[in-house]
Amino acid sequence: MTSSESPILVVGAGIAGLVAAIDLHRAGRSVHVVEAAPEPGGRVRTTRRDGFQLDHGFQVLFTAYPVLNTYLDHAALQLRPFLPAARVVRDRGTPALVGDALADRSLLLPSLMGGALPVRDLWRMLQLRRAAMALSVDSCFETRYARMSTRDFLRAWGFSARTIDGFFAPFYGGILLDRSLSTRASVLLFTFKMLAEGRTAVPAAGMGAIPAQLAAQLPAGTVQYNARVRALHVVDNVARGVVLDDGTTHDASAVVLATDLLTAHALTDTVHVTLDEPRAVLGCTTLYYASERALLPGKALWLNARADATVSHAVTMTEVAPSYAPDGRHLIAATVLGEAATRDDETLDRAVRTDLATMASEPATLDRVAVWRVPMAQYAQPVARGDVATPSAHTPLRGLLRASEVLHSSSLDGAARGGQLAAQAILTPESIA
Ligand SMILES: Cc1cc2nc3c(=O)[nH]c(=O)nc-3n(C[C@H](O)[C@H](O)[C@H](O)COP(=O)(O)OP(=O)(O)OC[C@H]3O[C@@H](n4cnc5c(N)ncnc54)[C@H](O)[C@@H]3O)c2cc1C
Repeated sequence: MTSSESPILVVGAGIAGLVAAIDLHRAGRSVHVVEAAPEPGGRVRTTRRDGFQLDHGFQVLFTAYPVLNTYLDHAALQLRPFLPAARVVRDRGTPALVGDALADRSLLLPSLMGGALPVRDLWRMLQLRRAAMALSVDSCFETRYARMSTRDFLRAWGFSARTIDGFFAPFYGGILLDRSLSTRASVLLFTFKMLAEGRTAVPAAGMGAIPAQLAAQLPAGTVQYNARVRALHVVDNVARGVVLDDGTTHDASAVVLATDLLTAHALTDTVHVTLDEPRAVLGCTTLYYASERALLPGKALWLNARADATVSHAVTMTEVAPSYAPDGRHLIAATVLGEAATRDDETLDRAVRTDLATMASEPATLDRVAVWRVPMAQYAQPVARGDVATPSAHTPLRGLLRASEVLHSSSLDGAARGGQLAAQAILTPESIA
């Protein structure tokens, strides 16, 4: 088979790879996907254990994501929404609610009376919400916001240090896995916009239902699981396919590299191709506990704003989606970030139990279900040094395209956009020689 008759080969069936494959398939192109894992999803997977649904690290879907959601059937996913609010814990047993009163009017009084934020900062929050909604997604990512840190941006908006450190740091720790607020302000604006324009939800069957729904849009057999690529097959400086761990070579008319960035660097470094991509990653660990009682009640995310916090954020998943646990049981997800997330299981478990006891108003007996470690959860999105370039799926190697969150933002929607960009690059005839 000649290279031009060969299928387009997508490496990786995460969100980016699946979206690229769907777009190419819809355009009538022959596509084959090779995926190292036994199922689709990459970082968005759910494991079932003893009746519990364990997402591979706590994460959520924003229903306002403009690209990913065009590929999803929300009704079939049976989305279970969170309350558009957070409970901020500063001292033992005194959580204060901060809610989006424009999304849910019942949150107005508790937010004003709760005292988590000064009233003038609640007002600024409404103004910021309006400003973020007025921006297009592309505008959020413009150079002027990319060159400013989230902390500097919030200071420029006049937020008090108490609100920045006591609310935004844990809240964006929960979204960006980085409580230092050194992430570029673009991401704050984008997520603020998404939070304001839709709901935050999980599918009843767990986050893994999202990639499962995407994979089902491809003809049976398109995705080959348990197939790890060990090398790119390059002939005369053109990517002509891949070599799998078992030694088989797959020829391809084009290769779409839809792996995480660490694997992408490893595969391209060995053929002396340098990708213009970040290399720094952020990790986290989510500890899952079962209990008879909802330790942290309600459908809001709980933020641990204490200076000595081990747990960054936590939630009783079953309050949002009862299907996450067997009847009569609750499932609590507590996430730890940074260096603390790398401690051994027993040390982590002790520290997390202490924090949860501090956050809860009443004690509950907790049975540990799992310690879920995600060393590469997101990539760091620091302040840009120069002008932000228009994202491109092209790489320095002819025939090799990139599909990944790195083309846009470390998010489910960023990954979907990365997949679209790769498909567009291939479907534009002059792109591939
Ligand atoms: C704990 C956690 C919380 C998060 N929270 C949120 C959130 O709340 N909202 C949000 O929008 N985003 C969140 N994210 C980010 C989001 O999950 C990612 O941005 C997105 O899933 C990245 O998708 P991707 O397709 O670019 O990469 P990946 O999901 O990493 O997919 C890459 C795929 O390539 C495969 N692969 C790797 N190497 C090989 C190889 N050699 N051969 C074959 N296949 C290979 C992998 O198995 C994987 O399937 C979170 C992520 C984590 C982990």
